[in-house]
Amino acid sequence: MADKARIVILGGGFGGCFTARRLEQRLRRQRDVEISLVNRDNYFVFQPLLPEVAAGAILPHQIVNPIRRMLPRTRFYAAEVDGIDLARRQVSVLLADGRRRIELAYDHMIVALGTVLSFSGLPGMAEHSLPMKNVGDAFYLRNHVIGCLERADIEPDAEVKRSLLTFVVVGGGFSGVETIGELQEMVDAVLPSYPNIARREARFVLVHSQPRILPEVVPSLAEYAARKLRQRGVEIRLSTRCEAATGHGVVLAGGEKIPTHTLVSTVGNAPHPLVGALPWKTAKGRLVADATLAVPGHPGVWAIGDCASILHEHDGQPYAPTAQNAIRMAARCADNIVAALRGRAPAPFHFDTLGKLASIGHRSAVVEMLGLRFSGFLAWFIWRTVYLLKLPGWERRIRVALDWTLDLLFRRDLTQLKVFRAERVERAHFEPGEIIVRQGEIGDRFYVIVSGRVAVVREEEGGGGSARPIAELGPGEHFGEVALLDDVPRTATVRAALPTDVLCVGRGDFAAVARSLTLLRAGLHDAAARRAQPPPPS
Ligand SMILES: Cc1cc2nc3c(=O)[nH]c(=O)nc-3n(C[C@H](O)[C@H](O)[C@H](O)COP(=O)(O)OP(=O)(O)OC[C@H]3O[C@@H](n4cnc5c(N)ncnc54)[C@H](O)[C@@H]3O)c2cc1C
Repeated sequence: MADKARIVILGGGFGGCFTARRLEQRLRRQRDVEISLVNRDNYFVFQPLLPEVAAGAILPHQIVNPIRRMLPRTRFYAAEVDGIDLARRQVSVLLADGRRRIELAYDHMIVALGTVLSFSGLPGMAEHSLPMKNVGDAFYLRNHVIGCLERADIEPDAEVKRSLLTFVVVGGGFSGVETIGELQEMVDAVLPSYPNIARREARFVLVHSQPRILPEVVPSLAEYAARKLRQRGVEIRLSTRCEAATGHGVVLAGGEKIPTHTLVSTVGNAPHPLVGALPWKTAKGRLVADATLAVPGHPGVWAIGDCASILHEHDGQPYAPTAQNAIRMAARCADNIVAALRGRAPAPFHFDTLGKLASIGHRSAVVEMLGLRFSGFLAWFIWRTVYLLKLPGWERRIRVALDWTLDLLFRRDLTQLKVFRAERVERAHFEPGEIIVRQGEIGDRFYVIVSGRVAVVREEEGGGGSARPIAELGPGEHFGEVALLDDVPRTATVRAALPTDVLCVGRGDFAAVARSLTLLRAGLHDAAARRAQPPPPS
């Protein structure tokens, strides 16, 4: 038995962070409990304000909070959860270098991993649409849109210009409506600085698969939002599905193609793959938890937020995947864990949504709250006040309030900050004696030697640490493929013998090429098999 009770939280979104926060409050004086939280990024993202970041009304870092500061008593791991062993009550965590794992043992585990993006059945969407899930997505979108305006202003070809000035958003729920409304407001605000673009040339299209936008709010408010957007020139395509996306545009059901350089997708949320990989009960890919948020049949395991399926006691339907619900579940989950630690019975979760709010740009919104309905400027004012108060911590609230005030006083910024993705193929240099890959680690890259020389050695089991030379490789040769092709730990250590330059291809890109290019895959397998042969007797 460990001397401390170990609580491990998976995911640092609304569900995970708010559970940890409540646990820190409730267990303030109890030092025999250790709280750990694992999240991919070292910050918490306030997703409801992403459209404002995409429109440049708020700076990106104002809507994120460093988790260490939010949760000073929690042991924080900025890393990837890559496995859960229910039998051994352990979580496997891939460290940031992508090469090593550690195991975290738990007495209580809270699964709050949210959802992932998936566009299966929609060719080209994953490659060509811009998501709106993380702060980087919103920041990228803002710079991308400004980039389109820069290009359109000097574009001689009318067709290309039209495509650059066409902005398509897929999904007519809260995030899609807010995104198109905010984008349009930003483009309207900065267009006076682009003398060669007339306002009527900018085209905004909202594609929605259902017969009305904002299905979550009452029809009168949804109609108000649709009317306002249409008055400003947004084309709303209802009951219309996307079929495919390419680098040139989006194809709608029925075959119509809209040429565009900007396709934003607010749909495509799919169940988290880790949730689906385990032998517990799921409903539509979400982890089933009972009314106390506990996962039946697995004592000490709890599930909350978007990745969980918890039925509402009134209508028997699962709670909607919203931040409001995740925050309330987090508080109940923490209280129930504290009750379990103190030998008391857990209480059931119950929450009725307090309100539904959507901003539609140009200082206008729709709000349904405590039985009352608002639209227009008053609703927009309520929307901003509510979200300001919901932001965790006064520092962020003050910063966002300042940004909003400055946005009222000054013109929208149109600086295009170019953010490039890391190059697909990286270069690296190693000095003699430096280890490039180490036997036993997880394979993260494939290497091609540009210049220099490397020695490949293998430690045999029971060999007392002595290493057998396998090969010496030089320019034009490669290594690191076995761990990636066979999904096994590194089978040998590779050390630079001379000053060595290599090209490195990351695991994902290597897998994609090797999967598709049969000749390459076969050649690499052959080379690996040849190298694995024992050397001929001398
Ligand atoms: C653009 C947008 C606008 C929205 N607006 C609203 C709104 O106005 N009102 C509202 O109530 N809701 C809104 N939502 C929905 C709301 O944000 C979600 O319901 C909420 O974030 C769910 O919380 P969660 O903790 O379940 O998941 P998340 O907040 O998504 O958190 C999951 C966390 O787990 C991490 N994670 C996932 N997998 C791993 C892994 N393998 N290893 C490590 N970490 C991992 C993720 O990085 C993430 O930090 C909006 C969502 C979006 C995208």
